[in-house]
Amino acid sequence: MDYRKEFPIFKNRDSHYLDTAATSQKPKRVLDKIMEYYEKYNGNPGRGSHTLSMEASNLMANARKTVQKFINAKYDKEVIFTKNTTESINLIAYSYGIEFINENDEIILGVSNHHANIVPWQFVAEKKNAKIKFVYLTENGQFDIEDFKSKLSDKTKLVAVSAVVNVTGVIQPIKEIIEITRNRNKNALVLVDAAQSMLHFRHDVQDFDADFLVFSGHKLFTPMGIGVMYGKKELLEKMPPFLYGGDMIEFVTEQKSTFAQLPNKFEGGTQNVEGAVTLEEAINFIEEISYEKINEIENSLTKNALEKLKKLDFVETYFTKDVEHTGIIAFNVKNVHSHDVAFILDSYDVAVRSGHHCAQPLMNYLGIPSCCRASFSIYNNEEDIDKLIEGLLKVKEVFGL
Ligand code: PMP
Repeated sequence: MDYRKEFPIFKNRDSHYLDTAATSQKPKRVLDKIMEYYEKYNGNPGRGSHTLSMEASNLMANARKTVQKFINAKYDKEVIFTKNTTESINLIAYSYGIEFINENDEIILGVSNHHANIVPWQFVAEKKNAKIKFVYLTENGQFDIEDFKSKLSDKTKLVAVSAVVNVTGVIQPIKEIIEITRNRNKNALVLVDAAQSMLHFRHDVQDFDADFLVFSGHKLFTPMGIGVMYGKKELLEKMPPFLYGGDMIEFVTEQKSTFAQLPNKFEGGTQNVEGAVTLEEAINFIEEISYEKINEIENSLTKNALEKLKKLDFVETYFTKDVEHTGIIAFNVKNVHSHDVAFILDSYDVAVRSGHHCAQPLMNYLGIPSCCRASFSIYNNEEDIDKLIEGLLKVKEVFGL
C-alpha cells in the first residue's frame, strides 16, 4: 500500500520530507475529522446541558478512552489532555516537582534528553534546592545502565528519560530503567518521555510500570496542539492542580475553591476537542496500519539510506551501528555547518532538521556544535533517499570537499 497517497500535502508540495521527528505530516482522514467536528458537533465541553456541549464532552470522553486503550492505562482518568509533551512535563514539574521534590533530593536525567525534559527539572531543582544528576551514554549511544546504577540512590526522587532519543533515534532500555529504579528505591518515580517513541512501538504503561508517560499528538499524525500526560491514579490524586480556572473546580467561594476529580482537575479552561478527536483518529489509523508495518517501512528506508550514506566518505553518522533504532539518522558533513547542509538540501526539496535539536547537553557530550537529522516515516520512499544523496553530493561540490 502506498501510504504517501493518504497525505494531501504531498499532492500539493514536492517535498522530500525527512523531518517527521520534528512533526509528522497529517493523513486526510485525520484532517477531515477537524471539519467534521466543527461542521457537526462544535460546543464547549463540560459547560452546559445543551446537546452540542454534551456531545463535545462525549467526544472528549471517547478520545480519552481510545488513548487509555492505546497505552493500556488502568483508568481513563489517568489520561490528561495537554497541548504537547512540553506542557505535559511542565504539569508534572509544577505539580509533582514543586510539591514533592525537596532540598537535597535528586533528579536523574539522561544526557540525551530533549530540553523539554531538562529545563523544567532545572527550574524545580533551583526552586527546591534539589540536585540534578546526568546519566551518560554507552559507546553505541544508549543510556548507560552501569552509570545509572552508580547514580541512583535513596535520594533519587525522579528519573526522567526519553524512550527514544530525538537526535539519534536510539531506543533506550526503558523497561530495564524502571525495573532497576523499583528495586533500588521504592520512592523514586519514573517519567517516560515518549514524544519520539509513540509512533514506533507500543507503550503499555502497566507493563512498563511507568509513573508518568508523556507525548505529543503532532508527532503521530495529528495537528499541533494536543498532547497527553499519563500518570498513575494514586499519584495524580495527590498532586495539586496545574492550571487554575474554569472547569477544574468543584465549588468556588469568594475566598476559596475546591477542585474537581480527575481528569478535570488537570484540564483547566476550554479544551482542544478537535485535537482530542484527531488524536483518536490518528490512533485508529496507526492501529489499522500496525506498528509492525510502520517499523518494516522505516527500517527498510533507514537501512537503505545508511548503505548509501556509507559510500559518502565526507559524511559522518552518529550511533547508527549495533543499537536498536527508529527511522532517524543523525549526520554531519565533515567541516560544514549543519545549517549550510540543510540549506543546500532544501534547494533539492529535501527537508532535514539541522542545529542542536533542543539537545544541547547531548551536543556538548558528543563534542559537536550541531548536526543534521533525517527521519523517515510511512510516506517516504526510495526517491526521497536518492534526493538526499544527490543534495549531499551538491554540498560536497559547493564546499570543495
Ligand atoms: N521530547 C522529545 C524526545 C522530543 O523529540 C520533543 C519534540 N522535538 C519534545 C520532547 C517536545 O515536544 P513538543 O515540542 O511537542 O512539546
